[in-house]
Amino acid sequence: MFPYEIDDKPKEECGIFGLFAPGLDVARTTYFSLYALQHRGQEGAGIVTSDGQVAHIHKGTGLVAQVFNEENLSHLKGHMAVGHTRYSTTGSSVMRNAQPYLIETLHGPLAVAHNGNLTNAPSLRNNLLQRGIGLSSSSDTEIIVHLLSGAGGDWMSRIRTFMAQAEGAYSLILLTRDGIFGVRDPWGFRPLVLGKIDEGYVLASESCAFSTSGAEIVREIMPGEIVRLDEEGYSVVQGAHPQARAFCTFEHIYFARPDSVLDGKSVHHVRQALGRQLAREAPADADIVVPVPDSGTPHAIGYAQESGLPYTEGLIKNRYIGRTFIQPTDRLRRASVAMKFNPLAENLVGQRVIIVDDSIVRGNTSGPLVQMLRDGGAAEVHMRVACPPIKFPCFMGVDMALQTELIAATKSLEEIRQHINADSLAYLSVKGMMHAIRESDGYCNACFTGDYPINVQLQLQDKAQFQQVFGIG
Ligand code: SF4
Repeated sequence: MFPYEIDDKPKEECGIFGLFAPGLDVARTTYFSLYALQHRGQEGAGIVTSDGQVAHIHKGTGLVAQVFNEENLSHLKGHMAVGHTRYSTTGSSVMRNAQPYLIETLHGPLAVAHNGNLTNAPSLRNNLLQRGIGLSSSSDTEIIVHLLSGAGGDWMSRIRTFMAQAEGAYSLILLTRDGIFGVRDPWGFRPLVLGKIDEGYVLASESCAFSTSGAEIVREIMPGEIVRLDEEGYSVVQGAHPQARAFCTFEHIYFARPDSVLDGKSVHHVRQALGRQLAREAPADADIVVPVPDSGTPHAIGYAQESGLPYTEGLIKNRYIGRTFIQPTDRLRRASVAMKFNPLAENLVGQRVIIVDDSIVRGNTSGPLVQMLRDGGAAEVHMRVACPPIKFPCFMGVDMALQTELIAATKSLEEIRQHINADSLAYLSVKGMMHAIRESDGYCNACFTGDYPINVQLQLQDKAQFQQVFGIG
């Protein structure tokens, strides 16, 4: 059964964590660090630990707290570990595709945790099948496992061989007999950061995962780099020639936790800067600024700072609503936004409201939110969006929806305004967004511009063919 989405946000595909730390309870440290990466995937979690000889694994569906307990953590022994939190696009594939993947090789155990999406996965998959290698899942992580285990040489040269074949987004953490490896694709689509703790070194998708283990940021892993963690400490080599950098802008806009540092920048500060830029580009004659909580909050604070208008809460969020596998009836579907938000009438009555959201994907919740503010007594509702209109799908590891489902791909600004019944509507410009991030290039903006950093024409055909053959995406 497909999960029913109550929100209207793009979905990140995974959070990854790994560490090499003799003397530390690596399973428990990974468990608490995965908690901090829960926002990057809520449908599955897993941990593999090892002493270099024997590997132990536990993984399952659900939130980190649902997958692990004292009993199963106590079996995860060793001095190194790799962990994963997963978002998946279909309910049925959750367990089959759960990570980390673990296999036994002639060179000891190999466990792989992956964040991203290989854009040439279909052709890599076909190559493996033609070589007689069977595959058990739709996950491109399984392809990575086979490419690494089937190559020759030591682990470092196997990783280089893999990087020479792979295209697209991949931040990887590998557990091997020799230590932990971190790998970032040559475009640098998805983040990967190195940290130091007393007992060793850690790797994570985001620096927010370091707070639970007391780790300090050492440096971000740069595009095309391989980092190795072992008893000697850490070492970094260039595994593949870096391509024109294409860090995902959406990490700053929505995905990453506000207390993370990405590309040397505080995510919280970037989001406030996006809000301030939005206020400069799209002012409105209004009385108050209200966020769509929680993801729109820093953007709304920035908008209020720049506009001089008071920031206040106008929508109260039920923080315990996630994805549900129960399909609501049509009537409940229309009302489902009310499961997640309630208007705070005391702040809204008679007010001209600017409501700030970080993004609009399908546009299925903005209309009900506008109506909710009106029902709460707002005299006018002006919608402001802290990123440009999303018009193109993502092939680099983000579940953005089909292009035909993206409201900005099929409707004009005025049509969207009418659709959500706002008094006015404005998005941040691409130029303004990059100005707020304080970068002129080095970022992927393909979902806004259609200007993909890698050739996706072939991938579009491959993806359709792949879905036809395997019935899964
Ligand atoms: S297309 Fe959008 S979501 Fe995908 S990597 Fe590029 S900026 Fe990120």
